[in-house]
Amino acid sequence: MQAEIITIGDELLIGQTIDTNSAWMGEQLNKVGVEVHQIRSVRDRPDSIVTALDSLHPESRLVLITGGLGPTRDDKTKATLARYFNTTLEFNPDVFAHIDALFRSFGRDLSRLNRDQAVLPVGAALLKNDVGTASGMRFERNGIFYVALPGVPYEMKHLMETHVFPWIRRELQDTHIEHRTVYTQGVPESELAHRIAAFEENLPDTISLAYLPSPGKVRLRLSSQGEREVVVPQVDAQVKALTELLGEVVYSVDEEEMERVLARMLTERKARLALAESCTGGYVAHRLTRIPGSSAWFLGGVVAYSNEAKNAFLGVAPELIARHGAVSEEVAMAMASGARTRFNSDYTLSLTGIAGPDGGSEEKPVGTVWIGISGPEGTRALRHRFGTDRIRNIERSALAAFDLLRKSL
Ligand code: AMP
Ligand code: MG
Repeated sequence: MQAEIITIGDELLIGQTIDTNSAWMGEQLNKVGVEVHQIRSVRDRPDSIVTALDSLHPESRLVLITGGLGPTRDDKTKATLARYFNTTLEFNPDVFAHIDALFRSFGRDLSRLNRDQAVLPVGAALLKNDVGTASGMRFERNGIFYVALPGVPYEMKHLMETHVFPWIRRELQDTHIEHRTVYTQGVPESELAHRIAAFEENLPDTISLAYLPSPGKVRLRLSSQGEREVVVPQVDAQVKALTELLGEVVYSVDEEEMERVLARMLTERKARLALAESCTGGYVAHRLTRIPGSSAWFLGGVVAYSNEAKNAFLGVAPELIARHGAVSEEVAMAMASGARTRFNSDYTLSLTGIAGPDGGSEEKPVGTVWIGISGPEGTRALRHRFGTDRIRNIERSALAAFDLLRKSL
């Protein structure tokens, strides 16, 4: 089945709300084997909505629409769809009873606007919204199904799960789309492409490879479509070949978050981790503690931003800082071993750098970050040169620290 998505709302076009509905729907549709041809966002205006409906992708058989089903004057979708499908709006007592009950359960009084949400297009299949007041609706014309859902992500997801996916499953033939993702770290996209040129060359025509770079890492996604029994082993074989070819550069297959990979490794080795953070200001600790169960392997960290804090809480000698500077191999190592002693951890990571945008020098430009590790094999530190964007530098520092730990483990 081929589909497309139209999201409706002025707020989407001025960047006030990010269109997360399409992203979620695209991901979920893909999982059930529905191919999405295009995603468009349009204004809350009847002519914009009609123009979008009049210019579908020729192969689309399912059109998912979100937004503009609310009760206020700026919500135009319901009336526009009714006109577009040559029908009228009519009061629906069953839907009204549901809205009324919902308001009672919140202890609130109904307004006329809420009552109007029970006024719905005749002839459309109504998708009952258990968690809100805006009903979903499905129209059909010339073999194309149009499903309109509320914009509120929580309500949209609920209607997709209770009405749309069960319906799709009933309608659908058994084609399967297989996606597998190999996650790499520390090697730029162009260099990766160079390393796997022969692999890419020999990839069967039925399998496609996509490069998806983001700061510090590149996702390599292998995809194929067909009968499940055929495509799953085919893609799996290519994933194995690619993983072997790239070796240590691969930090995970199908698991995006490096910290989850680390959590597994630390748990397996019964190793406990501590941190000494300067330029990341606790960000590394935050990312690790987002993982459920992190208390099993994460002991704690020191955010030692000033030189005084590096001395007082990590035992970094002032002379060392005076001689080499706070952003140096020596200080990164002293931070790591200082924290390791104090926390009595198996491994400690340290980060000290110039996040920017100011504060660099010729010798130590903005983006210079030293990352140290102290563990059973001793203490060492590596220098990185990131860019000039502060937030990206913090992000990349965290990833590089995770990568150093992963390789040490
Ligand atoms: P509406 O159904 O148009 O009244 O939208 C209700 C709320 O849902 C809006 O205030 C938005 O914050 C949110 N919303 C609407 N469309 C989207 C979308 N495509 N992605 C994420 N949130 C949305
Ligand atoms: Mg709206």
